[in-house]
Amino acid sequence: MAKIGFDIGGTNIAAGLVSDEGVLVKKGSLPFPQDKDFEKVMATCEQLVAALEEGETEPVRSIGVAVPGSIDATASIVLNAFNLGFSNTPLKAALEERLQKPVYLINDADAAVLAEHRIGSLRGCTNAFMITIGTGLGGGFIFNGSLYRGGRGNGTEPGHLILVNGGRHCSCGNDGCAEAYCAASRLVQDGRTYGWSNAKMVIDAAKAGDPFATAIVNAFIDDIGSYLASVINLLDPERIAVGGGVSAAGEFLMRPLRENVQRKSFFTDPTEIVVATAGNDAGIYGAAFIAE
Ligand SMILES: [Zn+2]
Repeated sequence: MAKIGFDIGGTNIAAGLVSDEGVLVKKGSLPFPQDKDFEKVMATCEQLVAALEEGETEPVRSIGVAVPGSIDATASIVLNAFNLGFSNTPLKAALEERLQKPVYLINDADAAVLAEHRIGSLRGCTNAFMITIGTGLGGGFIFNGSLYRGGRGNGTEPGHLILVNGGRHCSCGNDGCAEAYCAASRLVQDGRTYGWSNAKMVIDAAKAGDPFATAIVNAFIDDIGSYLASVINLLDPERIAVGGGVSAAGEFLMRPLRENVQRKSFFTDPTEIVVATAGNDAGIYGAAFIAE
């Protein structure tokens, strides 16, 4: 029986029907209610499930939901998802009541790692790491063949490893987190002085040879390099996948990054660093994969 995976974001709620073979059969998306009214969020989810189930002969067995926030150890309550206005929200119980099916929750970064492991560039790995370089820095790792969920069920927050003591202010409230240096928002912050308003503009200017953009991108790569070298020294992963919008820069970013990491890593044999391939539907896939 097929499962439904939800990827709930602050802009859109995306959902897809995923077969037992792990194939995304069909998908749909609706805007996330702008007033963040919980009842409307529930109604939107119900609408998406109805649309996906329409015309299907077999009933949907269960539902997985990826949310951009922290989930409690029992995987039933969203402790905080600021973009969604969720705070101590009993999402599992609310959706189960509404949809009359078992519901499983997962953090969106974990969902992306799970999808990458099952259908993307980390397929076949037993121990691997992934970072998602978007507005923020997400990620997680595969440990002994499964997603590492933490010792107390908190999962991991690899974007908030502290890279520079007392450094740049991070969205989490701390100073010096990797996210403040290795996410797209850093490129935006540094590029603003020169009139570049998004990460792609900075990268494109660097590709065109602009010296200021080049300096910004080089510093960015140097910081991601330090971060990944530390990750390698800690985990010795078989492979590292780099996902998120910034990874679209491809080899322009990856080639100097590999050199930088290799130079700083404790180990002499290079760790494979590749661009993530699970794509935009990784959240839907990952959510469906945790649904039983
Ligand atoms: Zn932080």
